[in-house]
Amino acid sequence: HKYVYDFAEGNKDQKDLLGGKGANLAEMTNIGLPVPPGFTITTTACQAYLTTGKEPTGLADQVGSHLEALEREMGRTLGDPEDPLLVSVRSGAKFSMPGMMETVLNVGLNDRSVVGLARQAGGSTGPDSSSDSDRFAWDSYRRLIQMFGKTVCDVPGEDFEHALDDAKRAKGSDLDLDLDADDLRALVVTYKKIFRQRTGREFPQEPREQLDLAIRAVFESWNAERAVIYRRQERLPAEAGTAVNVVAMVFGNLGTDSGTGVAFTRDPASGAQGIYGDYLANAQGEDVVSGIRNTVPLQELERIDKNSYDELLDYMARLERHYKDLCDIEFTIERGKLWMLQTRVGKRTAAAAFNIAGQLVDEGLIDLDEALHRVNGAQLAQLMFPRFKLDHEFQPVATGIGASPGAAVGKVVFTSARAVELAGQGEAVILVRRETNPDDLNGMIAAQGILTSRGGKTSHAAVVARGMGKTCVSGADQLDVDIPAKRFAVAGHTVNEGDVVSIDGTTGKVYLGEVPVMPSEVVRYFEGTLDPERTDDVLVRAVHRVMTHADSRRRLAVRTNADTKADAARARRFGAQGIGLCRTEHMFLGDRRELVERLILASTDADREQALAALLPLQRADFIEIFREMDGLPVTVRLIDPPLHEFLPPLEQLAVNVAVAQERGEAAAREEALLAAVRRMHEENPMLGLRGVRLGLVIPGLFAMQVRAITEAAVAVTESGGSAFPEIMVPLVGAVQELETVRAETEKIIAEVVGGSGVEVLIGTMIEVPRAALTAGEIAEAAQFFSFGTNDLTQMAWGFSRDDVEGAFFWRYLELGIFGISPFESIDRDGVGRLVRIAAEEGRAARSELKLGVCGEHGGDPDSVHFFHEVGLDYVSCSPFRVPVARLEAGRAAV
Ligand code: ADP
Ligand code: MG
Ligand code: MG
Repeated sequence: HKYVYDFAEGNKDQKDLLGGKGANLAEMTNIGLPVPPGFTITTTACQAYLTTGKEPTGLADQVGSHLEALEREMGRTLGDPEDPLLVSVRSGAKFSMPGMMETVLNVGLNDRSVVGLARQAGGSTGPDSSSDSDRFAWDSYRRLIQMFGKTVCDVPGEDFEHALDDAKRAKGSDLDLDLDADDLRALVVTYKKIFRQRTGREFPQEPREQLDLAIRAVFESWNAERAVIYRRQERLPAEAGTAVNVVAMVFGNLGTDSGTGVAFTRDPASGAQGIYGDYLANAQGEDVVSGIRNTVPLQELERIDKNSYDELLDYMARLERHYKDLCDIEFTIERGKLWMLQTRVGKRTAAAAFNIAGQLVDEGLIDLDEALHRVNGAQLAQLMFPRFKLDHEFQPVATGIGASPGAAVGKVVFTSARAVELAGQGEAVILVRRETNPDDLNGMIAAQGILTSRGGKTSHAAVVARGMGKTCVSGADQLDVDIPAKRFAVAGHTVNEGDVVSIDGTTGKVYLGEVPVMPSEVVRYFEGTLDPERTDDVLVRAVHRVMTHADSRRRLAVRTNADTKADAARARRFGAQGIGLCRTEHMFLGDRRELVERLILASTDADREQALAALLPLQRADFIEIFREMDGLPVTVRLIDPPLHEFLPPLEQLAVNVAVAQERGEAAAREEALLAAVRRMHEENPMLGLRGVRLGLVIPGLFAMQVRAITEAAVAVTESGGSAFPEIMVPLVGAVQELETVRAETEKIIAEVVGGSGVEVLIGTMIEVPRAALTAGEIAEAAQFFSFGTNDLTQMAWGFSRDDVEGAFFWRYLELGIFGISPFESIDRDGVGRLVRIAAEEGRAARSELKLGVCGEHGGDPDSVHFFHEVGLDYVSCSPFRVPVARLEAGRAAV
């Protein structure tokens, strides 16, 4: 089994085996960039180590022979007392897990080779001398003990940091550069003492032992708690393992002609072309990011070392052309010689993703299909939220986790009750808690945004806020929240109840005061108020270009869920190709409630028919409006779904009214009748009770009235010159017999109303009860279309009540990794998805022209859209705001 690869043996496509860092080091080596020589131990070796608890057979020998080759190439031996080779031992998984894994630099240093290193560096006169070279060697050695102690032997990092601080304090400086060779020599003694006290053993002097222990520590860092949690949250595979890269050390801390830096080939924030990065002279690796000294902008390097600068720019251009994407880079300059230490396709903001994709197409590096792969629906959704308009005036006071995107501004409140109270008075509020729990639900609903000082992306606050589409920043641990005192402290400020704060759920940033909010340009483009051909907004032009291509490529149509004229109109502007779900419930609310009450209380056929006859023209008028708005496009209307008692006043209220009336000796026949009806119709599990098709079968004339209203509306619109394409959808069918019964009556009415108008009305059903999915072949005999109601289907397949579970225990399920994301947010492919697949296949087998769509929340979820594409549905339907996201993802799924 081959566990070790020389850099020259690998390439960038071997991330599974060599990890991202290893694969890219190999690639850079092979295209001729100056990478220090080294080798990569595979993820397979790591997996074997993690399952058996020991290094796989052969690994030690393979590391040995690659090390020998490396020593030959470098002309030095690891840890040699006279002229040592040093190496770094670097983790590198397939996916980047920032800050999660471990790296040890300067492996090979010990009490003897530290002197050799000083000599190698050019200036040591002996073990006690104090030249710059000695300073460098002892600094490298103390770094090794520190990193090795912490990473390999779990010595608390603070122990070393305190000792370093003490040394600096003794020197009267806060710069580690002011420590000279003697100070560092003394620090090494202290570090070794710390190491001994904490581990019960001496710091290992044997170079190969250092190497083997470091490799093992990198393997083990894969299962460090923070890494495990991070993978769960990011839905990364737990079993992939990390590769280990052993790289010959080059030194950026050899003096002012040395240094280390990071660079981006484009601005990762905006995508703009240019030179972005930071440089730090006389420093080693970690120093740049750790912020211990101030870096200079990369442009300064031109002045400091023009040759290295020009060379770096040349490599950056080469890497961009080679990877055809934004790359980020780590480099080190050792005495004027440039070394490339890492590259990868760099992370970027949503705006940069679209801009860069557009630029790369312009530069001829990628085509439009590839551009579609470079962006995604989540990024597009981010660009559609209103944003804060930030100038220098506003500096964040804290940064937490951007748990649910958006820009929210409001008065701070500390309890759910106060949130509800102030919101009731029309105030915008931000609910601030240490962490939220199910008792906070009402406050979360009432608030504009939620801010917590604890908890990550899967905390209660984060999960519930995302479910509600509400802005949330979680885990802003700089906040010291005092609930009883109704205030929090942050960055020297005290924020009391009623003070205004602004929170950005995308970046996790928290601001004091009211930051102005600006609408999204991208939304203005979708709304049609910003012409993409005319604007000089590069982002809008890039979005337009990608969207146009997505539309030309996608096979899935995108419809919208809309119950009102306004929603329909907006969705149409956003590109909806019809309505996939028009609910009729709201048409029974407001002053129409009274008619519904009459319907429910009707004791004779005549009473009931009267109530229905009064509802008919109202419903017809609603449908006419919607059909006009969707002129020429299909509109799926769902017959009434919720249990009728939802339209009656609450039991307690009725009971009180009746009691009061009786007390006063007043007549309350109507209230009493309503109370009796509510009692009669009470259900323990209304979601599983008398609703959907069951209502249609039990209450004579109800569905018939709706069918008549829909058909009459279609005829009216057609006769006035428009064209309406109604599709009548029967909810909650579980057996074909239910649908057949409704269908017989429906067809009769349609035939009667349509007459010679030429209007055509389809009859279909929702597939939302598992039994319907499992008997879809039979149901398709009676249905012209299926629309998957994946909300109910998820609810019933899992036995989860959507209204109750998210706040109650989903956070725990996410924490335990039972699922990586709420199945209400993204379709559960294995379970619920399987039902969809079965129903689609068996439905189509029974009726080849069967139209298939989906109308649950999942219709606007990126991952789910890809699944629906794979299963071969004809369309997805989602809320108006998600329509562009669904269009983009449907395009991405097709290329
Ligand atoms: P991370 O994945 O956290 O960036 P790295 O393995 O890239 O960790 O290493 C941490 C730092 O050490 C980086 O700045 C890197 O450039 C530097 N470094 C790693 N290996 C070497 C080496 N062989 N010579 C000099 N610097 C190195
Ligand atoms: Mg790195
Ligand atoms: Mg449903």
